[in-house]
Amino acid sequence: CGIVGYVGLKDAKDILIHGLKKLEYRGYDSAGIAILNSKGVHVFKEKGRIAVLEKAVDENIAGTLGIGHTRWATHGEPNQENAHPHQSASGRFTLVHNGVIENDYKLKADYLADLNFRSETDTEVVVQLIEKFVNEGEKVEAAFRKALGLLHGSYAIAMIDNQNPEAIYVGKNKSPLLVGVGDGFNVVASDAMAMIHVTDQFVELMDEEVIIVTRQGYTIETLAGQKVERAPYKAELDA
Ligand code: GLU
Repeated sequence: CGIVGYVGLKDAKDILIHGLKKLEYRGYDSAGIAILNSKGVHVFKEKGRIAVLEKAVDENIAGTLGIGHTRWATHGEPNQENAHPHQSASGRFTLVHNGVIENDYKLKADYLADLNFRSETDTEVVVQLIEKFVNEGEKVEAAFRKALGLLHGSYAIAMIDNQNPEAIYVGKNKSPLLVGVGDGFNVVASDAMAMIHVTDQFVELMDEEVIIVTRQGYTIETLAGQKVERAPYKAELDA
């Protein structure tokens, strides 16, 4: 399973699909991408191989920000509905996740008892929680940190907000996630291998940190909201 993301000036689709293919070795049963453009967010997801997803992606949808996912199902069978990305009730937030949320039932009962969930995944609770906190008045970044702070288990998460064409929201705990740094673009990947074709500069994210990735740069904070400075390192991999 794996995660990729791109925010830059080029069309995101091909970069994301290429990245997902590079992560195929990690194993997966389904895959999906979300592309954000001026018309909103466009989600494509399929059970099966990346080649199946690639055929399902509409060539006419162009966008310079996107996220992608390969899923290794832990909660809910491998099918299209359970494939990632998952979206919040209003469709505003779109999220991918690797790992296992152990307290998903409790979070649903405590915070989202009257919501109809669209998938059987442990993941959907995360994106629904973020939207709930935003609806209650939190800023997106604070809502993202607050929701991640409530999770027990392992996660690598990337999220997009269809009201913010500038940023990918990223967080992790006990699952790997890196940010790749470019000139006029930045990327997200579970493994540097997925993005070594676009950059060899990577920033490692530590457990319980969140990183907001934009075209110009990135900011890292702990879940408690404390700023962290970390410079990229050069990945020595063959492209
Ligand atoms: N637990 C999540 C699911 O079953 C994510 C699995 C993964 O790591 O791909 O959908």
